[in-house]
Amino acid sequence: MPKHSQDELIYEIYDKLNKQYFKGALPYIRILWCETFGHGEFFKQFGDFQAIPGKRPIIRLSKQLCAEPKDIARVLYHEMVHFWLYANKKPWGHTKEFKEKLKEFKTI
Ligand SMILES: [Zn+2]
Repeated sequence: MPKHSQDELIYEIYDKLNKQYFKGALPYIRILWCETFGHGEFFKQFGDFQAIPGKRPIIRLSKQLCAEPKDIARVLYHEMVHFWLYANKKPWGHTKEFKEKLKEFKTI
């Protein structure tokens, strides 16, 4: 799939998940493909959410492990829950609240 349409697909899925699970309240966030995830020591890393003080937060997805829309949705939702907690100024690790919110997800 050409890079451009794949990127559009990510944001389409982001918008859909945002409406379905977050009342459309999550702001725009940069979502990047990560080439190192899914290989070597990161072979099990599907994605991550990064919030470095002074920088805009980003979500990274493994290009290797998120090939299908359903995989993108599942991994993206996980990272969006981190972002949702962060945006609400809450601890954004794998907290109890994180796990509760994660359970709401239904596969697409
Ligand atoms: Zn996580």
